[in-house]
Amino acid sequence: MMSPESAFLTTDAPVSKSSCASMLSSSKSWSEMADAVLGGEVLSRGDAIRILEADDNQVLSILDAAWRVRQRYFGNSVQLYYLKNAKSGLCPEDCNYCSQSKISDAPVEKYAMLNAERLLDGARKAAESKARTYCIVASGRGPTDREVDHVANVVRQIKDQFGLHICCCLGLLEPDQAMRLKAAGVDRVNHNLNTSERFHSEVCSTHTFRDRLATLDICRDAGLELCAGMIVGMGESNDDIVDVALKLAELKVESIPINFLNSIDGTPMQTLDHLDPRYCLKVLSMFRLTNPSTELRIAGGREVNLRSMQSMGLYPANSMFVSDYLTTPGQKAEEDFRMIRDLGFEVTAGDHDAAKLLEFWNQSTLT
Ligand code: SF4
Repeated sequence: MMSPESAFLTTDAPVSKSSCASMLSSSKSWSEMADAVLGGEVLSRGDAIRILEADDNQVLSILDAAWRVRQRYFGNSVQLYYLKNAKSGLCPEDCNYCSQSKISDAPVEKYAMLNAERLLDGARKAAESKARTYCIVASGRGPTDREVDHVANVVRQIKDQFGLHICCCLGLLEPDQAMRLKAAGVDRVNHNLNTSERFHSEVCSTHTFRDRLATLDICRDAGLELCAGMIVGMGESNDDIVDVALKLAELKVESIPINFLNSIDGTPMQTLDHLDPRYCLKVLSMFRLTNPSTELRIAGGREVNLRSMQSMGLYPANSMFVSDYLTTPGQKAEEDFRMIRDLGFEVTAGDHDAAKLLEFWNQSTLT
């Protein structure tokens, strides 16, 4: 890492090729990379690696390149998401990063699927937080048929009352389950790749990368939008991160959440350090340049990894969660809104219940 004093000396000169990427990377400057992507070129693996390996003194130039691409597709809008854990703990899987897994000793709340009233209350809060989308997340390998029916019933009510865009994250799905969720009004399913196929066995042994891909295919076949991303900071290499970015581009997912590991005591990953904020910015920029028109969301771990640079993450990313994550608290929604306002960015309400959500924003008393 460069010293803090030199971290923001920026140039846009052609940058040296990394050793492992030299066979595939171009000699384009960051700005030329943005020009190429805006002209329809696909970023090469080598250039994606170069971004992650770049000196920290290149961060502002890399961010500028990513910002130009973000601006083309999303202007200065920020999509907000609000998470509700519909079922917590009690998971038979062994994902090493997760506080809800069977091998975690972390003191998380454990409860079965929330009743309709609690889920509707969460949706009301999502609307009040100006979130466009309400995410319903349940721990576990996959839902039972009864759980799918319960979620489907609640989703019908949320659509009637709040008109929110609905995203469900329920684990591995069977084809008929995906179709029932789609019929109830679910717009999108979140199912993260989490990491590369190569690294997946280091993270989890109870299901495979291929299992995860299969659920994405099933959901696509059911007509659902796909939200799939990764967790950065689990010990993977730059190659693994680029693998995921390129795979998601190939899958043409609608939305990519990037989590930065917030290592939780009691999990096998409890000793892993937080990431350098400038590295996180390079990761977000690489995802923007490999997936130029895809919604890119800063998800879990934002506060502890990006720290004072959280706001800069919104130059490559166009979306973020407000309020708490599944088992860890997040920055207060009010501080998030202030951050967005300070950037001069706008919260977009999307196409569902837009008038109501914009009214909340316009009536905000934040200064
Ligand atoms: S399947 Fe989901 S809830 Fe279960 S351990 Fe893995 S990430 Fe956690």
